[in-house]
Amino acid sequence: KWDKILESIRDDNELSNVAFKTWLLPLKVFRIEGNILKITAPFEQAATYVENKYKTFLYVAVAEAMGEEYEIRIITEDEALKEKPLEPETPKKAAAAPAPKVAEEQKTNLNPRYTFDTFVIGSNNRFAHAAALAVAESPGKEYNPLFLYGGVGLGKTHLMHSVAHYILQQDPTKKVLYVTSEVFTNELIDSIRNGNNNSMTAFREKYRNIDVLLIDDVQFIIGKESTQEEFFHTFNALHSANKQIIISSDRPPKDMETLEARLQSRFEWGLIADISSPDYETRMAILRKKEELDGYNIDDEVIRYIATNIKSNIRELEGALNKLVALSNLEKREINISMAEEVLKDIISPNQKREVTPQVILDVVAEHYGISVSDIIGGKRNAEIVTPRQVVMYLCREITDTPYKAIGILLGNRDHSTIINGDGKVRKQLQANDGSLKNNIDIIRKKLSS
Ligand code: ADP
Ligand code: MG
Repeated sequence: KWDKILESIRDDNELSNVAFKTWLLPLKVFRIEGNILKITAPFEQAATYVENKYKTFLYVAVAEAMGEEYEIRIITEDEALKEKPLEPETPKKAAAAPAPKVAEEQKTNLNPRYTFDTFVIGSNNRFAHAAALAVAESPGKEYNPLFLYGGVGLGKTHLMHSVAHYILQQDPTKKVLYVTSEVFTNELIDSIRNGNNNSMTAFREKYRNIDVLLIDDVQFIIGKESTQEEFFHTFNALHSANKQIIISSDRPPKDMETLEARLQSRFEWGLIADISSPDYETRMAILRKKEELDGYNIDDEVIRYIATNIKSNIRELEGALNKLVALSNLEKREINISMAEEVLKDIISPNQKREVTPQVILDVVAEHYGISVSDIIGGKRNAEIVTPRQVVMYLCREITDTPYKAIGILLGNRDHSTIINGDGKVRKQLQANDGSLKNNIDIIRKKLSS
């Protein structure tokens, strides 16, 4: 549980691995005293550093995970040794409060907050929500598998957990297993590594002897052959026994290019539902819901400010609100619009509202490859320049739908057949599975959309 909290801090704030390993991983929970959570750091400097830099994050993540706010105190391990033991009954009480939640969560490994009740329905997720609810009401009957896809932080995991909670609520004897595809892969690897039949049998029993299987972020098994193979058999075993399978991914099955074809077609057997970015009304509704769930009371103007400026990702939307609340608690400041502007200035970047035009693509690609725009437009023919140039052609087609001719004009009056060729070349390389090109393009796309 503590590890999960630390990981959520890393993920929500995109900490580097080094920072995470150096500062967060060594932190241990010492004890809870009333509403104070004491955490130890290995030595004095670490305690000070964490105190200055990560205390707000800890506060937010702990509140989120425990469903209750705790004041965070960071002490060194030496100081902890010197602390008086608590009165006999206090530690029991303190430990008893959060314990049931922890137990429940570990049992099903579901987030208790991710339920249908807390899920806000908007135009971006209406269909996915309806499909998920239908599946929850009659698992294994109608839509099998249910395949949910959409970008990061849009509610796939929340919806999957909601289905699992719902099914368990209707029938607690149902065996519901939720795993990420990474966990599935790791467990498979472990049982293969163990090298005996027992471990493989145990693995298969675990995954086949259930009523509902939820596999989150299935895109991570792309390219992992033995995992795909095993998952294929798991899928068949469950499906033919009318057991419900729910899969999430960041893209639809047809775009999972290097996924084994037979698995890809299985994913298309049931129902496919996408979740897209929330519109303004939905963003407002989500913020209001969170305000209500957490018992905050925040000025409408501030809520509107967040909803207007953070558009693409619900996790960021919530993160912004959490950050405001945490700071206002720590520094005893009132949340108002000027505080919001100040605190959220790193999250809300001015170019978030930037429209992606061919010119913007040109600038971002040049910057990404560390070359100049005039190089891209110019006549050089070395690979360091030609590849970025073709990437511009490709992205202009993909993102902006600009006609070849217009792209040619932008790129120093090149002929439209040159653009068709360049664009085609990138497509071919992507199809041929050029990992590094794909990676670069993914990063550029991210830069363009943020
Ligand atoms: P994904 O799995 O698609 O990356 P998550 O399910 O983890 O996204 O959602 C990110 C955060 O946004 C979670 O805290 C989740 O509760 C919240 N969230 C997403 N969609 C909704 C929604 N429709 N209503 C309320 N909260 C939502
Ligand atoms: Mg997820």
